[in-house]
Amino acid sequence: MQGLIMDVPLLTSMIVKHAAAWHGDVEIVTHRVEGDMHRYTYADAYKRMCRLANALKRMGIEQGDRVGTMAWTTYRHFELYYGIGGSGAVIHTINPRLFPDQIVYIINHAKDRVMFIDTTWVEMMEGLQDQCPTIEKFVILCDSGKMPKTSLRNAVCYEDLLAAEDDTFDWPEFDEKTAVALCYTSGTTGNPKGVLYTHRAMVLHAIAGTSSDHPLCIDSRTILLPAVSMFHVHGWMVPYAAPISGTKLVLPGPHMHGDNICRLLEEEKVTVTAGVPTIWIGVLEHLKKTGAKLPHLKICNIGGSAPSLAMIKAFEEDYGVAVVHAWGMTELSAAGTTGRLRQRHQDLPADERYKVQQTQGRPLFGFEVKIVDLDGTRLPHDGKAVGQMFVRGPWVAAAYFEDDAATEASFDAEGWFGTGDMASISPDGLVRVSDRSKDLIKSGGEWISSIDLENYALTHPDVVEAAAIAVKHPKWEERPLLVVVPRPGAEVTPDNIRAVLAEHVAKWWLPDDIVFVEEIPHTATGKISKKDLRENFADYRWPAASLEK
Ligand code: AMP
Repeated sequence: MQGLIMDVPLLTSMIVKHAAAWHGDVEIVTHRVEGDMHRYTYADAYKRMCRLANALKRMGIEQGDRVGTMAWTTYRHFELYYGIGGSGAVIHTINPRLFPDQIVYIINHAKDRVMFIDTTWVEMMEGLQDQCPTIEKFVILCDSGKMPKTSLRNAVCYEDLLAAEDDTFDWPEFDEKTAVALCYTSGTTGNPKGVLYTHRAMVLHAIAGTSSDHPLCIDSRTILLPAVSMFHVHGWMVPYAAPISGTKLVLPGPHMHGDNICRLLEEEKVTVTAGVPTIWIGVLEHLKKTGAKLPHLKICNIGGSAPSLAMIKAFEEDYGVAVVHAWGMTELSAAGTTGRLRQRHQDLPADERYKVQQTQGRPLFGFEVKIVDLDGTRLPHDGKAVGQMFVRGPWVAAAYFEDDAATEASFDAEGWFGTGDMASISPDGLVRVSDRSKDLIKSGGEWISSIDLENYALTHPDVVEAAAIAVKHPKWEERPLLVVVPRPGAEVTPDNIRAVLAEHVAKWWLPDDIVFVEEIPHTATGKISKKDLRENFADYRWPAASLEK
């Protein structure tokens, strides 16, 4: 027997229609690419989305056509999410920090017909456009009369395009399983892989994003600064979740350095922020240098990689800001777990609570998780057994876009997605990611977690950033090498870092060597690039003391 409830398809256009109707006066503030500040409301944004949808129709963009974006976290990119997706086309958010040959690969693989591009990357695309024949037109995201001189194919100005259109649009209704967005993984091995999201998945995940237990921690009273790129995993769902709850948005554009972020946090009285640890290293350094405080900020949501204990403590003890840790992936549409503390964890002594906050948290509703050994046998949730994490849920990819080989390699016989992350799960459901499977260090047949070594190294007050990698060893197969960025001017030595590590890990985990560098390479999404680091140290040779062990 079927129920008697309306069968209204879950489409992203409902989100902005709702925001315009019921949160129309709520502000969206942007630190623009041009350098100045821009302010308008959800109601203003909605009208411009309508203009954009009309413009796309005029260009002949049809349902299912892919439309690329190369844009920062700004009001214009926000408009593109809905103008493109809501009208039935597919927004392909491109990470411009990928290598040029990867950018060419994903544009051709996606068959993007139009490209909306910030001025930052115009020159780069001028050099690549001949290799991207599917792009018929480039739309430059700039003010009228401010078009850069460019050889980009059929280039037009975004503001001119919108000005010529009507500010009402009849958003089409279609099957909720229709594709709305396409995002490629950073592709640390092989070509990037495409994840093609449905309207249904985006709306469901966005609704989850407004739950008070979700790591975004937003509601209609929140002022949110997402220090995340809108070209990376839907800007952590912010563009879809914030309009549902009428959250005020403060968008940093390309200005993601510590000083800029701190200025916005202060001036806009931001209450919640989100970003990867690299961003917060910059923010905390800036605060330390200037002596500034964070009087308005209550919550900092950290994900993308694990925040160190030192970072969690600094936020809480020096600035009164609670860190909410989360774990997610491109293939998961954004988040899979939440570090929002349960009541029983809230009242723990600080040191115990920090241990909970260092885990990736517990699975969100609707999201199933299992850990398995190399044979695919499920492992117990005892907080000790470590296995590869497989997941399943209504916003998890079911396959990669037109890539059978990658699909074949990533899904098990039950259809669960293999994340490539190694984790344990505690009896009370806390997931603890110990490493990417390919970053674990295998010493004498036993595993060493590179993430643990890095986190403990970061408890040393003069270590700004740390990365542990495996280096081949003639006796032990692999041994850990720790690469450290020291605080400028600090007197830090391998021995005093080793002494700090020895307080936390077994002796055989201690790195055989610690090397100091000025900078550690990062991926296009701001994480430490172990691949580049391994390449940089390809010719590294162990000191004699290590070889004699
Ligand atoms: P991406 O698809 O680029 O967002 O990368 C997803 C990967 O980032 C995951 O598979 C993890 O390896 C890593 N990751 C994301 N969040 C965390 C976290 N909180 N702690 C540790 N690793 C994380």
